Amino acid sequence: MKKTLTLLIVFFVLFSCKNEKIKSENSDKLTKNEQNETPTFGIVIHGGAGTILKKNMSDSLENAYKEKLEEAITVGHTVLKNGGSAMEAVTKTINVMENSPLFNAGKGAVFTHEETNELDASVMDGATLNAGAVAGVTHIKNPIDLALAVMNNSPHVMLSGKGAERFAEEQGFELVDPSYFYTEKRFQSLQRIKDKEKAELDHDSKVSFAEDPFIKDSKFGTVGCAALDKNGNLAAGTSTGGMTNKRWNRIGDAPIIGAGTYANNATCAVSSTGWGEYFIRGMVAHDISAMMEYKEITLQEAAEEVIQKKLPNLGGDGGIIAIDKNGNVSMEFNTAGMYRAHMNAEGDLKIGIYNE
Ligand code: ASP
Repeated sequence: MKKTLTLLIVFFVLFSCKNEKIKSENSDKLTKNEQNETPTFGIVIHGGAGTILKKNMSDSLENAYKEKLEEAITVGHTVLKNGGSAMEAVTKTINVMENSPLFNAGKGAVFTHEETNELDASVMDGATLNAGAVAGVTHIKNPIDLALAVMNNSPHVMLSGKGAERFAEEQGFELVDPSYFYTEKRFQSLQRIKDKEKAELDHDSKVSFAEDPFIKDSKFGTVGCAALDKNGNLAAGTSTGGMTNKRWNRIGDAPIIGAGTYANNATCAVSSTGWGEYFIRGMVAHDISAMMEYKEITLQEAAEEVIQKKLPNLGGDGGIIAIDKNGNVSMEFNTAGMYRAHMNAEGDLKIGIYNE
């Protein structure tokens, strides 16, 4: 009897010790979870890179760009602050820029040689490595939304032209008349580039286009966004009208996953802007992610190597915006300027245009 009693006491003591341990492990976990309740998040955007010089910019135009960049990034930041997904932040932010005639995406897209507007866009989800893209659409007000629908509601990654628009109709998208995309400024840029081409063909050296603001303004304005949400998920998206005077249904880097857009929770989310042919050849967005992964270097180191060395070595120019899984950001470009903005979890806003 005495023996049984002693055994019972020993069991009781051992059991309560174990319970204490479990309790203390749980409270450790609680502390970690509590820390995770205020995890970091952030968002970074671009509105195109190119020959953007202070001397060619009026104060009112500069302010208009800054205001629109701030409006767009605030929309995405609010989504993230309220616990929304990185993908929702990316697409809603891009919608604001697509709807503004200031940028070469959606309304205000550049003109093709045939005087039409052909739009490209893509999104990528860093959690699943799922992606969606559309190329050469001519009736879609917000191509980034269609790229998202391709990702979410089709078995494919990339749709183009008329087929993409049939899919859009099936998805309940409203198709807009192509005249919606018209802006006088972009149309004039095309006319000037055509005049320049003709003068070159005719060897007519009397006309100089070197300082023509419409030509200088003709290449840039693509929009892009990369975001990290409170769940540690990354997403990126890019939307563009491509390059002025493009022909033969040319498709740039913006809808090419790995070139214009890439996101991977293990590394970073990237959106590119610049001379698309070189971004495709250099697989720029993916290269930055791959360099981080394989060389174990930081986002900024990878971005610098790709944008300041590899891309110019090929002959290309442009820039990227990117955010990594810890909220570090890079806004790297090798052109005179890049419209750009970053907002961190605390809501601190940085906006830039020129190379300063
Ligand atoms: N990357 C775009 C394209 O080549 C243009 C740009 O970003 O300015 O279509």
